[in-house]
Amino acid sequence: MATVAVVGGGIVGCATASWLIAEGHKVSVFERAPEARPASTGNAGLIALAEVSPLARPGIITKAPGWLLDPLGPLAVRLRDLPALTPWLLRFVASARPERVEAAAAALSWLMSTALADHQELARRSGMSGHMRKTGALYITASESGYRAAREEWDERVRHGVPMQELTADEARKLVPALTGEFSKAFFAPESWTVSSPLAILEALRRRIGDADAFLKQEVIALHPQSREISVMTGEGGDLPFDRVVIAGGVWSRTLVRGLGLKICLETERGYNTTYPKSPIDLPMPVFFSDHGFIASPLAVGLRVGGAVEMGSPEAPPNYKRAAAMRKVMRRYVPDLPEEGGVEWMGCRPSTPDSMPVIGRDPRDPRIVFAFGHGHLGLTLSAATARHVAALIAGRPDPGLKPFGIERFQ
Ligand SMILES: Cc1cc2nc3c(=O)[nH]c(=O)nc-3n(C[C@H](O)[C@H](O)[C@H](O)COP(=O)(O)OP(=O)(O)OC[C@H]3O[C@@H](n4cnc5c(N)ncnc54)[C@H](O)[C@@H]3O)c2cc1C
Repeated sequence: MATVAVVGGGIVGCATASWLIAEGHKVSVFERAPEARPASTGNAGLIALAEVSPLARPGIITKAPGWLLDPLGPLAVRLRDLPALTPWLLRFVASARPERVEAAAAALSWLMSTALADHQELARRSGMSGHMRKTGALYITASESGYRAAREEWDERVRHGVPMQELTADEARKLVPALTGEFSKAFFAPESWTVSSPLAILEALRRRIGDADAFLKQEVIALHPQSREISVMTGEGGDLPFDRVVIAGGVWSRTLVRGLGLKICLETERGYNTTYPKSPIDLPMPVFFSDHGFIASPLAVGLRVGGAVEMGSPEAPPNYKRAAAMRKVMRRYVPDLPEEGGVEWMGCRPSTPDSMPVIGRDPRDPRIVFAFGHGHLGLTLSAATARHVAALIAGRPDPGLKPFGIERFQ
C-alpha cells in the first residue's frame, strides 16, 4: 500500500481519496480553502448519464456569434481575459471538427458507461445512502431551430446508446405540469439521476476522510519528484514525502502541471445559479432549457436554476446579472417562478477544449496521476474517475483511458 497525496478537496479529489482509503492506502487530501464554495459545492446536482456529447460541435460554432452578441446570453467571454483564453478558444474550434466530436463522444460514452455503478460503489465504500434518486430529465426546446440543434445532438447520444423519448409539448407538460408557458417540443432522458445536495455529499466525503485523519487545510505550492519519493511543498513551508500524488485541484491544477514542465489547456467556464430554499414550484425532475443553456433542478436544498458559460479568469468578480437573466428566461416557461427569495452563486468549471477530463499518469513520472478538467460533468464522473485513479495507482490502468491522457496537449 502506498502513501498518496491528493491535491484538491473538491468532489473529484474527495471521491478519489475515499476510494483509495477503502483500498487501504495512506491518503492525505490537501485543500487550501475548505470554507470556499468551488464548483463541487453548488452545481446542479445531476448524475447526467445522457451527457456524452462534447460542447465543441459544429452547431455551437454556428450559434456562438449570435449568443456572444447577447451580453447576458448562454455563452459569454470576458473581454479582458480574451488574450489568456485565445489558445483554449482556438483548440475549442478545432475540437468541433466532426471526426473529433465523434471520437470525444465515443470516449465519454465509455467513461460514462460505469458512472452510475461507480457512484453506487463509492456510496457503499463511504457509508452514504439515499443521496441519489433516479428522476429522469426533460430537455425542452423553444423554437424550430432550437429543436433542430437539439435533435442533432440527441441523434448522436442515441447512437452512443443513450435512451431517449421525443415528446410533444403537451406530453412534456404531463411529466412537468409547472411548464405552463409555450415551447415547441421536448426530449425525455429516463436514465438521469439527481443527488439530494452536492454540498452535503462533498461534506459527507470530507467527514469520512477527516475521520481517517487525512484531510489537511493546506495549499500545495509545488511538486518535486525525487528518486525515492515525490516531495510535496506546502504553503505552510514544509516539504512532505509521498509515494504517489494525485492532482485533482479543478482549474487550479494547471499551476502544478505546468510546474512539472508539462503543457495543459485548461480554462474556466464560469456558471451561475439561484437556489430557492422555499420554492413554490414543484418540479418532479430536472428541466433543461436547451435553447438557453441552463437547467432547473429540484434538490433537497431547494429549486436550483442556472447554468450558462462565461469564459474568464476564476479569480474575476462574479457578475450576478447572469443569474438574474436566467431567472427571467425561465419565467417564460414557468411564470410562477418568484423573483425574490433565491440565493445566487457562481462556480468555476475546470474545462478542457475537447470536453474530456484529464485522467492518466504523468508520462515522465508515473507516480504522479492527473484527475482534473471534468467541465460540466465533474459530479457525474467523480466516482468513475476515482476508480480509474485507484487502478492507475495500483499499476493496472484501463487501456480505455488512453484518449484522456495529458499526452494530447504535449
Ligand atoms: C453552474 C454549474 C452547474 C453544474 N452542474 C453539474 C451537474 O449537474 N452535474 C455534474 O456532473 N457537474 C456539474 N457541474 C460541474 C462540476 O461542478 C465540476 O465539474 C466539478 O465540481 C469539478 O470538481 P473538482 O473537484 O475537479 O474541482 P473543484 O470543485 O473546483 O475543486 C477543486 C478544489 O481544489 C482545491 N485546490 C486547487 N489547487 C489546490 C492546491 N494547489 N492546494 C490545495 N488545494 C487546492 C480548491 O481550493 C478546490 O476546493 C456544474 C458546474 C457549474 C459551475
